[in-house]
Amino acid sequence: MGLLKTIEEKLGLLKYKFDRESHISIEQESFKQDPTQAILYVCPAKVYTKNEEDGSCIVNYENCVECGTCRIAAPQHVRWFYPKGGMGVNYRQG
Ligand code: SF4
Repeated sequence: MGLLKTIEEKLGLLKYKFDRESHISIEQESFKQDPTQAILYVCPAKVYTKNEEDGSCIVNYENCVECGTCRIAAPQHVRWFYPKGGMGVNYRQG
């Protein structure tokens, strides 16, 4: 195995402390009407997926790495706040 890792391998090294409440919400009607639905493609942690049955956006907030990309790519759909204190991703090792 080489020194370089895929993004999926790197994400697998992160530690998370899950909150029961999501720190992300989606304006679903706005999302459904967006022809680009960019948030499905910009998130490095694949937090957003499309429900093919009803066209809504599924949010797997537990995987969020708090990069902020979705807030820039789709501010009209995303309501994103930092997780409550002590929750979310932990970048510190050890
Ligand atoms: S902040 Fe980053 S990791 Fe979290 S949902 Fe948005 S794009 Fe994905």
